[in-house]
Amino acid sequence: QSLTDDVEPGAATMPLPQNDERRWSDTSAYARKKILQSWVQLPNGNWELGKILSTSGEESVISLPEGKVMKVISETLVPANPDILDGVDDLMQLSYLNEPSVLYNLNYRYNQDMIYTKAGPVLVAVNPFKEVPLYGNRYIEAYRKKSNESPHVYAIADTAIHEMIRDEVNQSIIIRFSLSYSGESGAGKTETAKIAMQYLAALGGGSGIEYEILKTNPILEAFGNAKTLRNDNSSRFGKLIEIHFSESGKISGAQVQTFLLEKSRVVQCAEGERSYHIFYQLCAGASPALREKLNLTSAHEYKYLGQSNCYSINGVDDAERFHSVKEALDIVHVSKEDQESVFAMLAAVLWLGNVSFTVIDNENHVEPVADESLLTVAKLIGCNINELKLSLSKRNMRVGKDTIVQKLTLPQAIDARDALAKSVYSCLFDWLVEQINESLAVGKRRTGRSISILDIYGFESFDKNSFEQFCINYANERLQQHFNRHLFKLEQEEYIQDGIDWTRVDFEDNQDCLSLFEKKPLGLLSLLDEESTFPNGTDLTLANKLKQHLHSNSCFRGDREKLFTVVHYAGEVTYDTTGFLEKNRDLLHLDSIQLLSSCSCHLPRAFASSMLIQSEKPVVGPLYKAGGADFQRLSVATKFKGQLFQLMQRLGNTTPHFIRCIKPNNVQSPGLYEQGLVLQQLRCCGVLEVVRISRSGFPTRVSHQKFARRYGFLLVENIADKDPLSVSVAILHQFNILPEMYQVGYTKLFFRTGQIGVLEDTRNRT
Ligand code: ATP
Ligand code: MG
Repeated sequence: QSLTDDVEPGAATMPLPQNDERRWSDTSAYARKKILQSWVQLPNGNWELGKILSTSGEESVISLPEGKVMKVISETLVPANPDILDGVDDLMQLSYLNEPSVLYNLNYRYNQDMIYTKAGPVLVAVNPFKEVPLYGNRYIEAYRKKSNESPHVYAIADTAIHEMIRDEVNQSIIIRFSLSYSGESGAGKTETAKIAMQYLAALGGGSGIEYEILKTNPILEAFGNAKTLRNDNSSRFGKLIEIHFSESGKISGAQVQTFLLEKSRVVQCAEGERSYHIFYQLCAGASPALREKLNLTSAHEYKYLGQSNCYSINGVDDAERFHSVKEALDIVHVSKEDQESVFAMLAAVLWLGNVSFTVIDNENHVEPVADESLLTVAKLIGCNINELKLSLSKRNMRVGKDTIVQKLTLPQAIDARDALAKSVYSCLFDWLVEQINESLAVGKRRTGRSISILDIYGFESFDKNSFEQFCINYANERLQQHFNRHLFKLEQEEYIQDGIDWTRVDFEDNQDCLSLFEKKPLGLLSLLDEESTFPNGTDLTLANKLKQHLHSNSCFRGDREKLFTVVHYAGEVTYDTTGFLEKNRDLLHLDSIQLLSSCSCHLPRAFASSMLIQSEKPVVGPLYKAGGADFQRLSVATKFKGQLFQLMQRLGNTTPHFIRCIKPNNVQSPGLYEQGLVLQQLRCCGVLEVVRISRSGFPTRVSHQKFARRYGFLLVENIADKDPLSVSVAILHQFNILPEMYQVGYTKLFFRTGQIGVLEDTRNRT
């Protein structure tokens, strides 16, 4: 008889995986003894299913497919599930929940285009890299009527709608997954978010606004996505879209919030990657009249686009996309006039990249060349050419009460030019988001009827980790806590329902790591901001300061020179402080801001005022004088933290639904399932966490009846005629199961990991 018949799903006995030892190995003796089929790890790291022919001493002989026979150390074998469990809908149904079994199950389903699988409360989505016949009206209908019950994004969206209406509580769909060393980019988060939106729009449609909401996607993707080496359509920003519903369940509006756009891509990107799609779309798709107006040439002529040697994407027609973006802009009510201003800003950014400099004295000071590029920039943003020249070659510095003028050297001038291009682009992006929000406005009234969809970058850990990874990983640490606490709450509810003492459940938390970031005044963020305000602060003094103040923190480790390591929930990441201060200060010189505010076009002026905030909070960088008032800018980290807190507050008031996307190969190719890559993601992301969290409580649950039926015959004393609860308690006593290892609920017995094994052993021997 298979174990699965009687023991609750997920009840296989396993030691709690340690943080650094991320293997789920089921080493309990009972498991191996009774198992005929077993997973064997081959030298290349892949797992293969084998039959145990014999076991003697420490070794077992295994036969593998294709007639191979292997001798292996018995300890290294991992039990496989019976065939009847092949391809189960929910990983929790697996009798043996170990790495190879999970890998196999996902693969089994993937081969049949069943890309969605549940892992308890989480939906796992494996990217098919091809069209799969799972979407569209027929499927939407089936999920709406509940005639299709297989795991799906639609099912998650449907649950969200129902819970929103039933409980009058806002909902959220959180699409992300944790740390992945090879990068999670291309896992399918953005596509999944769109699929969820599609379902919500279909069910909540009617007013027409759902159409506008769907059209925000092509716009945001054109301006915020780019081709990278990992993903042809990689999102370079995080996004939360909150969709509001009226009392009758119809969509009434929406609001988009974006996070941390990767600005640096505007002025530089790696070989084989592209800048933001919209630049290529504009160059390819602009009408002759627009080309003339913007003095537009081909993408190849622009230095910012030329440096990476990549202009097109396989299977993508940029000109055609340009028309779709224009249509989408029409739909979200961006006027033709404003659209033209937007395109003018894009052209200005491109032409800025072509501005070159000549040396004017023997101290290497430079001046921009007054050629076509410079003239076009001035014309496009509507500024005086001499002022543009000045802002790219001189810098006004305030020293005490005086202003001194500093001439720029070539590298400084290039920095000033690039900083201007980056700021214009990121302001343009924010401005567009604002327009979208105005068009989709929900009004002030919050109804308790909204569903938010979060598509945000996951944990990142590369060979070299910089300021961007630092911010992203901090955000993920926060989201991780949200996730943990939610699961904990779910668990807790079940314990309370069954009347057991949940205070004895201990959960792994990442509060220590979050405190390392957030503590004031001695936390990573505070110290970073403090150093950013010192004119003489450098990346090295920052690193030293961190080491000096944080060395005793268990989540922090100083490293050589400019390096430091943070022990994140998902693993250790070493950061290099090179560029931290500059990126955090994100200085745009007053001259550039003044230049923008003097422009005759309305967009640059709007950008200039959005760049300055009246100083209230701790701020970094120089004080700006504008319109008689003093302004300063928040540091990037502080601004990001503010956004993150706002995000967490919003999510905190919602019932969350989690989706984890998995990328089965690194070449964006259909049908290719690389065990190693998937495993890496499973280890670091949701699936393991869910298991880890549920296992840190009392993961094995068996009803009194089942327990009494299965083990009752082992009792020495004959009380088989007694009620199941008494029989169960007698069994627990006879086998000396320690009181802290179990709890007796109203209907079920709850066990710590591994406890059932003893009983199973005895039962199997008998
Ligand atoms: P990034 O972090 O770089 O933004 P991502 O996780 O958002 O990556 P997506 O852009 O959603 O990844 O997906 C990458 C590609 O994978 C898509 O362009 C699409 O080709 C394919 N893809 C993802 N999900 C699906 C799906 N459900 N069906 C078909 N193709 C998909
Ligand atoms: Mg994306």
